[in-house]
Amino acid sequence: MAIKHLNPAFESFSFPLAKSAKELISESEKIGLPEELINEIRQFSERNLMIFRVNNAVLYDCCPNCLKAHLLKKAKVLGLNAELQEKISRMFKSESGHNGYYLDKNKIFGTE
Ligand SMILES: [Zn+2]
Repeated sequence: MAIKHLNPAFESFSFPLAKSAKELISESEKIGLPEELINEIRQFSERNLMIFRVNNAVLYDCCPNCLKAHLLKKAKVLGLNAELQEKISRMFKSESGHNGYYLDKNKIFGTE
């Protein structure tokens, strides 16, 4: 799978094309995550949009590893209980971050 950073020519594509983030938001609403965290999914996805080409399909979304790490960190800051943190973790098939780090708007952060 080739992963590319967003080309400025594609900046006019809007967030609704980011299907998996939309699915995450819908799941988050079902499991009762606080609105602040759901907004975080929306905002993180928008500011970290990339293009993925998977089996001839072009998808627009953020890196799921980085989003997962960011959400789990934010959930701790917000004091979400262990059960909700576990539910967030299970919403993703991907790992949290990349070997202890994740990117947000081209800045590197630790996952802990
Ligand atoms: Zn990532």
